Amino acid sequence: MTDCKRRLVVLDPKPVAGSGEAPSGQQHWEDDHFHDECGVFGVFDHAEAANMTYLGLHALQHRGQESAGIVTSDGEKLYAHRAMGLVQDAFTQEQLAKLPGRIAIGHVRYSTAGGSHIKNAQPIAVDYARGSLAVCHNGNLTNGEDLRAELEARGSIFQSDTDTEVFVHLVAASKEVAVEDRIADALTRVKGAYSLLFMTEEAVIAVRDPMGIRPLCLGLLSSKRDVHVIASEPCAFDLIGAEYVRDVEPGEMLVFDSTGMRSLRPLPPAPSRMCVFEYVYFARPDSQLAGRSVYDTRKALGRALAREHPVEADVVVPVPDSGVPAAIGYASERHVAFEMGLMRSHYVGRTFIEPQQSIRHFGVRLKLSPVEPVLRGKRVVVIDDSIVRGTTSRKIVKMVRDAGAREVHLRISSPPTQWPCYYGIDTPTRRELIASSHSIDEIARYVTADSLGYLSLDGMLETLGGNAHGFCHACFSGQYAIPFTPSGRRQMRLVGV
Ligand code: SF4
Repeated sequence: MTDCKRRLVVLDPKPVAGSGEAPSGQQHWEDDHFHDECGVFGVFDHAEAANMTYLGLHALQHRGQESAGIVTSDGEKLYAHRAMGLVQDAFTQEQLAKLPGRIAIGHVRYSTAGGSHIKNAQPIAVDYARGSLAVCHNGNLTNGEDLRAELEARGSIFQSDTDTEVFVHLVAASKEVAVEDRIADALTRVKGAYSLLFMTEEAVIAVRDPMGIRPLCLGLLSSKRDVHVIASEPCAFDLIGAEYVRDVEPGEMLVFDSTGMRSLRPLPPAPSRMCVFEYVYFARPDSQLAGRSVYDTRKALGRALAREHPVEADVVVPVPDSGVPAAIGYASERHVAFEMGLMRSHYVGRTFIEPQQSIRHFGVRLKLSPVEPVLRGKRVVVIDDSIVRGTTSRKIVKMVRDAGAREVHLRISSPPTQWPCYYGIDTPTRRELIASSHSIDEIARYVTADSLGYLSLDGMLETLGGNAHGFCHACFSGQYAIPFTPSGRRQMRLVGV
């Protein structure tokens, strides 16, 4: 392509940190959780599209902290900026001012496979024969490797390690004319979990996979004219004064262009399998998903946990922040005092200090501190949302005991996590999941708790409405909703399934 045909303007391909990779000396503070891999945000027809997207991404920061990106369009060209780091570090006011136009999409990413590198930051934006196209993705394709191999064999050159780029090549290769038809054509080839935002010079197109595994919501910003916004979670709408309208339905494609909003159904319907872990941990508690408040659901999970695993205690203490609503539910069901016996520092991010072996547990101590007067001499129930490897739980139990607790009973508001996720969540290998190879008694001994209780799978699903088939719960049950392709099976063997 010659320069005169070039429509895509990449403002600043350089990462904030210089090399494009996370500096090797930086440490992630221990966080024994599954991690959501991405959040997406889009806006159609707003005078401050880039600023709105910046704020939307800010509200979705919990869904990804490694890189952030925004692509805008002024109707003729796309303008892209991506950088490593948090949203607030990735964009300056000057950079936002260089992203003109009334439509935008943006992305925050938590990188794992594919590596922490600027080349994997999204949205991906390209020029191709029919114009410019940008795309960002929350989820994971189960046949991404197969498609990539097939496309590379046909001459496609990939610039990133992400499966998201497969969409770009499939759309570019489609024989259809209209962009929504090209995207629909591409969707017939992919399998897996995807909440996607595409953008051309003139349109934003949102798509959710037929099972609706990852969330995607529609909002409306009412001003002189109605402005549509799309986000992974409605908490992104609150910050910009938009109203939550509804979830994008599984298998639905929403097209926003000069004719307004159109809802299309490019793929045959499939049984809904929304990720149940969104309610347990990933989503922000002030979001509602599928019409259900995340905060209320977490409290209800805590109440169910109390009914399944009661224990005589003086105080119920959450592991902040994610354990708070479940602890409130547990305490109210048991009529026991709820107290913040552990305080979380909100200023712990990265540091260049390499911890010495002698103080190797200080990561948890930097993040959490015990409130001794709450804990001393008490029988304490500690509530957390999940245990992944067990290492952090062990340190927390020790911290509570060292602060003078007489007994420490650990309660978990979800079932044992025994299986890796394959649908867009960063999980360790099966072998690293403590519940995959240890009984609950063994885990209790390892974390040195006086007792340990997990909410049962039935208890969790009953709390969520009793429909075991309406949710994906594969990381608890091993019942994977999407059949594996050969490359998917290969990858699953790598993580031990
Ligand atoms: S496997 Fe677990 S984390 Fe992954 S989509 Fe299913 S419920 Fe969510």
